[in-house]
Amino acid sequence: MYKIIEDEVLKKTAPEAVRAEFVQHEFERLHRFSVLIFLTSTFMWLVFDLIVSFLGGQGFTWRSMVFLLLFSILTVVLGFTRKARHFDVLTVLFVLSLTIGVRLIVYGVPDIVQSSWLVLAAASMLYSISVLPLSRVAFFVVQLIIWSLLNPFINTSISLFELRGVMTACYSVFLCALTIYTFLKLREAKLYNYIMSQLLLDQAYNDTLTEIPNRRSFMTLAEKHLQTVPREHDHYLLMIDIDNFKKVNDTYGHDIGDEVLKRVAADIKMVMNAHDFARLGGEEFAIYLTDVSREDAEALAGELCRLVREQPTKYPVTISIGVTRVEEHDTLTQALIKADDALYESKHSGKDRYTFHR
Ligand code: GH3
Ligand code: MG
Ligand code: MG
Repeated sequence: MYKIIEDEVLKKTAPEAVRAEFVQHEFERLHRFSVLIFLTSTFMWLVFDLIVSFLGGQGFTWRSMVFLLLFSILTVVLGFTRKARHFDVLTVLFVLSLTIGVRLIVYGVPDIVQSSWLVLAAASMLYSISVLPLSRVAFFVVQLIIWSLLNPFINTSISLFELRGVMTACYSVFLCALTIYTFLKLREAKLYNYIMSQLLLDQAYNDTLTEIPNRRSFMTLAEKHLQTVPREHDHYLLMIDIDNFKKVNDTYGHDIGDEVLKRVAADIKMVMNAHDFARLGGEEFAIYLTDVSREDAEALAGELCRLVREQPTKYPVTISIGVTRVEEHDTLTQALIKADDALYESKHSGKDRYTFHR
C-alpha cells in the first residue's frame, strides 16, 4: 500500500521552489562535511606540494604559500557560509584555485608520468565534488574547470593517438560519465527522500481539516517555549472551545459543522499569526503566547472572540476562551489544566468570553 502511495506522490515533478529549498536543506546538513572536504583537499595538496618541492626538487616557494593562503581563506569563508548559492560560488573558486595549484605541482614530476598524475588528481576531485551539496549548474561548471585545467593532453608529453593517449582518453571519458551519473542519481534519490519526508512531516504535524498545526505540533512547540527560563516577558496559554457546537452539527449537518471549524481556525490564524496555535481535536483549539504582557493577552483573546462573533455568515457561532499565565515552574500539563479550568468558568458564566485563571 505505502509503495503505491509513494509512487503516486513521486510521479509529480518537483517545482523549482522545492528544488531550491532542497539544495539549501542539503547544504545545511552537509555543511561540516563540506568544510572537511575543503580541509582534506588542502591537506592533500600540501602533502604532494611538499613531496614535489623537496624530493622532486621543485622547491618550496612563495607560490606555495600563496595557494595555501588562498585555500585557507576559502575554507574559513565556507565555515561562515549559510546559503547554498554562496557555497556554489565558493566551491567553483576553490576548485579553480586547487586545479591551478595541482597543475603547478604536476609540472614538478617527470614528463612520462605527468598525464597519469593529472588524471589521478581529476579523479580524486571529481569524486569529492560528486558528493558535495552543489546545484546542478555549479557541478557542471566544476567539471568543466577540472577537465580544462587538469586535461592530461594539454602541456604533456602524450598525444591522443598513441597507446597511453587512447587509454587515458578512455579512462577520462569513463570517469566523467561515472561522476556525472553518480551526482545526478544521488541527487534525484535525495530529492525524492526530501519531498517524502516533508510530506510526512506536514501530515504528521498539521490538521487536515482546518490546515492549521495539530496537537502533536502544539505540544512540541509549547514544550520548547516552556523551557525558556528565565523569560523576558510572560507566557500565556489559551484554550478555546466553540460554544454549542453540537447544535450546529445537529441543525445544519456535519459538513456545515466542518465549515464552521475551518472558519474558526482561519480566524485564529488571522488574530494569532505571530504566535503558536493549533487544533487540539474536535472543536477545541489552543494558543501559546510568548513574550507578551497581560494586557496583550487580554486584547488578543477579546479580539478573537469579537472576530468569531461578528463573522458575516449564515452559520454564526461564538467561542469561549480560558487563559492562564504560564509560570516558570509549570509543566505543560499543569498549564493546560489551568487554562481548561478557566475555559470551564467562561462556559459557566455565559460563554462567548475569555476568563483568566485565578
Ligand atoms: P459547549 O458550548 O459546552 O462547548 O457545547 P458543545 O455543544 O460545543 O459541546 P461539546 O464541546 O462537548 O461538543 C463537541 C462536539 O463537536 C461534539 C462532536 O460531534 C463535534 N465534533 C467534534 N469533532 C468534529 C469534527 O471534526 N467535525 C464536526 N462537524 N463536528 C465535530
Ligand atoms: Mg468541546
Ligand atoms: Mg463546544
